Amino acid sequence: MEKILKQYFGFENFRPKQKEIIESVVSGHNTLGVLPTGSGKSLCFQVPGLELDGLTLVISPLISLMRDQVETLNAQSIPAAYLNSTLKKKEIDAVMSALESGRYQFLYVAPERFNNEEFRQLVSRLDVSLIAFDEAHCISKWGHDFRPSYQNIIPVLKELVPEATTVGLTATATEEVQENIQELLDIEGARVYSTSVARDNLHLSVNPTYQREQFIESYIKDRPGAPGIVYAATRAEVEKISLHLEEHGIENVIYHGGLGKEERNRNQRLFITGEVDIAVATNAFGMGIDKADIRFIIHHNLPGDLESYYQEIGRAGRDGKTSECILLSSPRDVNLHQFFIDRSNSTEQYKDHMRAKLDRMIQYNRTNKCLSSFIIKYFDADEYVVECGQCSNCLNPERTYDMTLEAKLVLNLLAQSEMPVTKEQAIQILRGESAENILAFNLDTLSAFGTMESYLTSELNHILEELIYRGYVHLRDEQLYIVDRSRKVMNGSAALHTVPFRRYFNEKVDISTA
Ligand code: ADP
Repeated sequence: MEKILKQYFGFENFRPKQKEIIESVVSGHNTLGVLPTGSGKSLCFQVPGLELDGLTLVISPLISLMRDQVETLNAQSIPAAYLNSTLKKKEIDAVMSALESGRYQFLYVAPERFNNEEFRQLVSRLDVSLIAFDEAHCISKWGHDFRPSYQNIIPVLKELVPEATTVGLTATATEEVQENIQELLDIEGARVYSTSVARDNLHLSVNPTYQREQFIESYIKDRPGAPGIVYAATRAEVEKISLHLEEHGIENVIYHGGLGKEERNRNQRLFITGEVDIAVATNAFGMGIDKADIRFIIHHNLPGDLESYYQEIGRAGRDGKTSECILLSSPRDVNLHQFFIDRSNSTEQYKDHMRAKLDRMIQYNRTNKCLSSFIIKYFDADEYVVECGQCSNCLNPERTYDMTLEAKLVLNLLAQSEMPVTKEQAIQILRGESAENILAFNLDTLSAFGTMESYLTSELNHILEELIYRGYVHLRDEQLYIVDRSRKVMNGSAALHTVPFRRYFNEKVDISTA
């Protein structure tokens, strides 16, 4: 085995658990490997595939990755091919007949390929010794990226190639998902190999800020030349962030499902080759991205579950160097996730499952305990954890939010307005809403009108409550008054800190107005 490792891949030593997995597979046991991203899962089926006679069938959801891996194998004179929707009919026929004559050692396919009767018949005639499920969490209904086509092919494969050994590999499986994969692929408990999900070079932080775009902009400006990905929840948000960065002199490429294939490929290439350092993308970007030096990953929105989050941040720091993973969010994110769960046509049981996952993601966002420990415990409740000492919570357990800027904007309004305004009016003015009780008093002519239009009503409410509670604004007969003390904040001689609005995640925000 070491010989194969050296001869074909040029490596001296196996990484943790690689050898155990490979030995288990070669001795004919169905096996599951749960190893973090970048730890070398491909070798866990490539080395056995070279060791065993017969064909290794690799089932992967990632078309771009298939081509890369096949090219890499071919470069080592290992006969390998792939079949997927990017090939022309003629190319498919050529691969099929070469398969028939036993030319390949590896064949990569997407699960959908098994819908093809001709392909199924061919597989039943082939000498398949190993079936590898890459991204094996996709076969579990309890995983974060379930693909029905995966689950459907398991009985088909059992019928077509009953003798083949099966190996599943994934970076993200909770205990529940692991057990489900084991059951589906007939894997004994003793044949599950995993290493800790901890990746010490990833510095995690949850950075509550109202002004996410400004934060991202100044973060990137502080790190010229550092490659990084900014993830956002929707195409529209991706475009908006990208434009903001561009307007502030930060070159970036975007990536989302709404772009044409050519543009997506081009942008991905510019990022991978380092011609452009920053990619702003939805979660469509990243599966199979092989770039070792990604220094930071910023999430503009809260992902729906920790598995997705862990997988996305797993793309940072594959070279082992320190990289930062920053989670931003807004209360609206939670409501959107809830909205989609409620509206999906899944069973109630499944919806509850998704809600429970979302709750854990929210807890991660709100906890003041070690973030790294939180993630490790999420994937394995039994694992012994030690505070990492390097996440934002370990470094700053008493974390507060500097709301001086927001306070100034609010106080400016109160100083400007000749008539006292109510809380509701103040919020409408700051958000630039031309409501009736604003226009009636010409309050839209104040220069403070619209100065906080990017803030949510709930956020402004929080800021006002904070100012009133702490005595920077006086609320009397439902009207707001500026006081002497406020001047210190307005002229910059006092800073104001508050508990982050994380606690707002308890509150329902109406997404139609937020
Ligand atoms: P994963 O699928 O787990 O994200 P890959 O299989 O893509 O990771 O491997 C990540 C990188 O680590 C690749 O560049 C691979 O060549 C390298 N690698 C894998 N195993 C070893 C090893 N035993 N020694 C050194 N490098 C390795």
